[in-house]
Order: sequence, then structure tokens, then C-alpha cells
Amino acid sequence: MSVYDVIIIGAGPAGMTAAIYALRSGKKVLLIEASAYGGQITNTLKIENYPAAPNISGYEFASNLYKQVVGFGADIVYERATGITDSDDTKIVHTSKNQDYTAKTVIIATGAKNRMLGAIGEKKFIGRGVSYCATCDGMFFRGKDVAVVGGGNTAVEDALFLSEYCNKVYVIHRRDSFRGAKTKLEKLKTRDNVEFVLNTVVTNVIGDKKVSAIETKQVHSGDTQKIAVEGLFVAVGQEPQNSEFSNVVDIDKSGYIVAGEDCQTRTKGIFVAGDCRVKNVRQLVTATADGAVSALTACSEL
Ligand code: NAP
Repeated sequence: MSVYDVIIIGAGPAGMTAAIYALRSGKKVLLIEASAYGGQITNTLKIENYPAAPNISGYEFASNLYKQVVGFGADIVYERATGITDSDDTKIVHTSKNQDYTAKTVIIATGAKNRMLGAIGEKKFIGRGVSYCATCDGMFFRGKDVAVVGGGNTAVEDALFLSEYCNKVYVIHRRDSFRGAKTKLEKLKTRDNVEFVLNTVVTNVIGDKKVSAIETKQVHSGDTQKIAVEGLFVAVGQEPQNSEFSNVVDIDKSGYIVAGEDCQTRTKGIFVAGDCRVKNVRQLVTATADGAVSALTACSEL
């Protein structure tokens, strides 16, 4: 049985950066990825805030990172990690394909998945008008009326992107102030085909085979409104998925793994990197920074 120095769970920016640092320290590395490499950054059309890489697409960023990881000699398997067993000097990572992989250290870099709104009908219409990725699905709504829900950077960027192609974009937010970067918000406000629907939540997604309208509720007055749209883009943040690892790490009430800036969890030899960790700033640059910190700390213990 092959024992890896470092097993990294998750091949997003944090996990792949960790792989680069561990491989360049001469370690034997396995990356375990549940779906496709790249993580959520692949949904970003244009990255404008990563130092010295202006205007690179999320897909290109992830592809470059992947090529680096493969070039340095990582093993990669596409399986979902379902748990970790900690036994003194080794850790065993179990996967959905009933495989057990053994390593001296583990870095959990599972990121987060899109949060659902919880509106009636939302689940039923996923892929039939409800989408969580404007850059993936936006083109299907060319010339149509759509709504974006959320008040963060993703919602503002999604609305900007969709306003280029769609007839009309409603931006629906539960408050009247946005978390998203001000420059982009100001740009969005100049678009003639964008209408802000503030202090409002989406309660119902309506349609037959596909979405035809949404029902909203004004949070202060309670007034309801039906808005005819063919697409609903949900951009209300992310949720981590770490419950499988709760036997070896502490998890906060929002589901994030507890660790400080050193990325060390409560179990020696198990680290956490990127968006799945408790932290204040979840950005590409902080995810890659976590990747480096976690890998170098893991390597220093080997
Ligand atoms: P986010 O910043 O967490 O924003 C989520 C938004 O959805 C908030 O405005 C929140 O409202 C709203 N919301 C949450 N739950 C809701 C619900 N159940 N119903 C209605 N609205 C709800 O998420 P994000 O925009 O996806 O961004 C995630 C992280 O990635 C952030 O740190 C962001 O800065 C970063 N990001 C960066 C870039 C970039 O720099 N280019 C691009 C995309 C994302 P409240 O404001 O009222 O809480």
C-alpha cells in the first residue's frame, strides 16, 4: 500500500496551490477531487483582482494551475472523500468509490457550494430556468427577461454579465445596501436594462415546464409582486460541506472548519485551506495563500 506524504481533498485554487507547494518540497502528493478541478473560480468570467494577472478568466486560471500541478507530478483521483480516520502516524481518507488512501498528513480544501434560496419551486426548476451560475447558463437567456438574487460580488457580477445579453435584468436583494465592490455596483446602476428590486425576497418560482415568473415579497410592507422572467439566477453565497470530517476537525455553526491562519485543525497532521475554513475574507488570493501555508506547515511536520 502506497503511503502519501500529503493527501489534499479538493482541487480548487487552495487545494491545487497546496499541491504545488508540497510537490516542490519533494513530497508525494495525492489530490482527491469530487467533480472537476478548479472549484468555483471556473464560474468567474474575468478575474480582475488577482495580483499581476489582470483579466484572466476563471477557467484559464484553473487550467494553468492544473497544468502546474500535473507538471510537478501529483497523483489525482476523481472521487468524493467521505471521511477521514486518524490513527497516530497515518490518516486514512475514505472515498465514494470505496477506496482508502493513506497519508502522513491531510489538507482539507473542499471549498463551498452554492446556497439555495429556499423559495417554493426553486428545486423543481433547477436547469429549467433556475441557475446558480450566470457565466455557465447566461447565454441560454439571450434576449430574455431574467432576475438575479443577492447583494454580494457574485450577484453584481452576474447582473453585469447578464445585462449584456438579456432584454431585462431584475436585481433582487433582501436589503437596500450591497456587499459587492462599489465600482461594479455603480457600473450596474448605469445599465438601462437593469432594475433594482430592493428590500425584497423571492418566495415562489412559478412555471409549467420552465420558469415563467417569480413571486416576491417586500420585507417591510409584506406586499407581494409577480415578475415575469424566464431565468432566475441565484447568487446568495456559498455553504461549506464539511460534516464528513467532524470526527477529526471542529466545525462552527455555519459549517466552516475551525483553524487559525496557520491552517492547523484540532488534529495533528490535518490542515484546512481555502473557503471551507473559518475566515473573514474569502477571496481567490486568500485561498491560494492558505494552500501555501497549509502545505508548508504539513511538510515541516514530515
Ligand atoms: P456573499 O458575499 O456571501 O453574498 C451573499 C448575498 O446573498 C448577500 O448580499 C446576502 O444578503 C444574500 N443572501 C444570503 N442568503 C440569502 C437568502 N436566503 N435570501 C436572499 N438573499 C440572501 O456571496 P457571494 O457574492 O457569492 O461572494 C462570496 C465571496 O466571494 C465573497 O467574499 C465575495 O467577495 C467573493 N467574490 C469575489 C469576487 C471578486 O472579487 N471578483 C467575485 C465573486 C465573489 P445580505 O447582504 O443581506 O447578507
